[in-house]
Amino acid sequence: MVEARKQKIEKMQLESVKFLALGGEEDVTRNMYLYEFQDQILIVDCGLGFPDETMLGVDLLLPDITYLLDACLPEGKATKKIVGMLLTHGHEDHIGGLPFILPQLPSFPLYGSPLTAALANDKLAEFKLQPVVQTVQFTDGVLQLGAFTITFIHVTHSIPDAAHLFIETPVGNFYHGADYKFDLTPACKRYHDRRPHATRKSEPLTPRIRYA
Ligand SMILES: [Zn+2]
Repeated sequence: MVEARKQKIEKMQLESVKFLALGGEEDVTRNMYLYEFQDQILIVDCGLGFPDETMLGVDLLLPDITYLLDACLPEGKATKKIVGMLLTHGHEDHIGGLPFILPQLPSFPLYGSPLTAALANDKLAEFKLQPVVQTVQFTDGVLQLGAFTITFIHVTHSIPDAAHLFIETPVGNFYHGADYKFDLTPACKRYHDRRPHATRKSEPLTPRIRYA
C-alpha cells in the first residue's frame, strides 16, 4: 500500500510542473519564480524588495535561494539543473537581485527584451560583473530552454519593453503574467500585444501544477 502510494507520487512528480515563489507570496516585490519539470528548473525574474520602517539596518530584501543552492550545487553532483532565467521587465523588484544572486549560482543563459536586458546588464556592470543577459526581440519567435518552450509577449506597463511569458512544457502550458497596465496610448508607441492570447487560445492552459 505504502509502496503503491510512493510510486503514484513519484509518477505524479514526473508528470507535473512544480511552481515555487522564492520571494514569498505576501507582497509584490522580490519577484523570483521557479518552474520545475523533472530535473530542469526555469527561473523567471530575480528581483529585490524594500525594507519597511520596522527593518532597521536592513538595506534590501532578497528572495530565498536556499532551494536552488541545495538542488543545483555543487555542479557535477547536483540533482537539478537550471536551464535558464527570463526577465519580464526592468523594474528593480524584477532585476535588482541579479548582482547578489547570480554569483552564488552555476552559470546558465539569461534572457530579456532589449531594454530589460540593457538595464540588467548595466546593473551587473555596476557591480563589476559580466553582462550576461541576452536580448530577445518580441519578434524572435520561441525560445527553447530544456523542456520549456517560451514565447515573449509584449505588454504595456510603466516601463517600456515589458513582457509576459507563454511557457509550454511537456505536461501543459502556463501564462506567466508579470506587471502590466493596459495603456492605449503608450509613449513608445508599442502596444499591448493581444495576438498571442488569441492565437494560442486552442492550446489549453494548464494542467498539473504543484505549489511547494
Ligand atoms: Zn513593474
